[in-house]
Amino acid sequence: MTQEKIVLTGFKPTGRPHLGNYLGMLKPSMALMREEKRRCFYFLADLHALNVVQEPALLRSYTYDAAACWLALGLDTSKVVFYRDSDVPQIGQMASLLAPLLPKSLLNMAHAYKAATAKNKEAGKSDHDVDEGISIGLYQYPLLMAADILALGADYVPVGKDQQQHLEMARDVARRFELRYGPVLKAPEPLIDQTMATIPGLDGRKMSKSYDNVIPLFEEPTALRKKIQRIVTDSSPPSAPKDPTQSTLFDLYKGFATPEEIASMEAAYRQGIGWGEVKGELFRVISRELTPAHEAYGYWRSHPEKIELLLQEGGHQARSIAQKIYERVGRAMGLLA
Ligand code: AMP
Repeated sequence: MTQEKIVLTGFKPTGRPHLGNYLGMLKPSMALMREEKRRCFYFLADLHALNVVQEPALLRSYTYDAAACWLALGLDTSKVVFYRDSDVPQIGQMASLLAPLLPKSLLNMAHAYKAATAKNKEAGKSDHDVDEGISIGLYQYPLLMAADILALGADYVPVGKDQQQHLEMARDVARRFELRYGPVLKAPEPLIDQTMATIPGLDGRKMSKSYDNVIPLFEEPTALRKKIQRIVTDSSPPSAPKDPTQSTLFDLYKGFATPEEIASMEAAYRQGIGWGEVKGELFRVISRELTPAHEAYGYWRSHPEKIELLLQEGGHQARSIAQKIYERVGRAMGLLA
């Protein structure tokens, strides 16, 4: 008998999710939920969000917002343990146990930290001041992420490509643990859909709130149309053949269209098609897929008390699983009786 595999993923409630989050992680995680022999743990990474949002009411609102998105997309709490990071104290405890195994030199190379120091360098800071404004929270973000994953015993972690390095660090910690203390923790594998690995934003760079180039997940039709109009294209005329592999519009289209529609759009690019027509088609396929969930999102957003009940129940389940793993890990390390 094949054993159930544990699938775990989460995202930071730091503002409205965007189409990069949706195609890179939310949509694949919904598909995994429907597969056989999977036990899914999907969480709201509110402890990570503290590095960005330090206004309590706002963080609470973003957390319900993120939960509403997931529920609107069809998250089924009879199949998924759905919880907030902060409701599972064993995750923070696990981070303390793992910290001595994670070399500081590894954290120095983490993307989020390197991006923050690069920003300081660009602003003209000297080597001495390169860490200015960077908190320990941001610096040790990969440690907390490793604890999120290892504390619940995940086998697979669906993420966008931008998280690959952080996941590699979680695997590294699990291997170091095994070498020192024996086989207690599982090394998790990333699940990255290579066709949707990095979704570009309006300006062609990776879609990200920090670049201000996002298309929010649930956008009103007029605003969605306007956002799509702003996607940068070249100035070639409609009749000119176009390269679909170099097109933000095509990358987004692939995330929402059927295989037949994708093939026919690819042929149209090679023959020549106007950007206006492609944008109209993109609007159509996005609306087709997201309009029903948009309505459900409205429902969940206006019922935070129902979300809260689901999160309380999920937190309870996650705590009981994490406690067992924490005790095994602690004992292997010579802690606990
Ligand atoms: P975050 O907003 O950083 O918590 O990211 C949540 C999830 O969305 C992670 O799995 C990311 O890898 C994924 N993600 C964020 N932006 C993108 C993007 N532009 N393309 C693909 N995946 C993304």
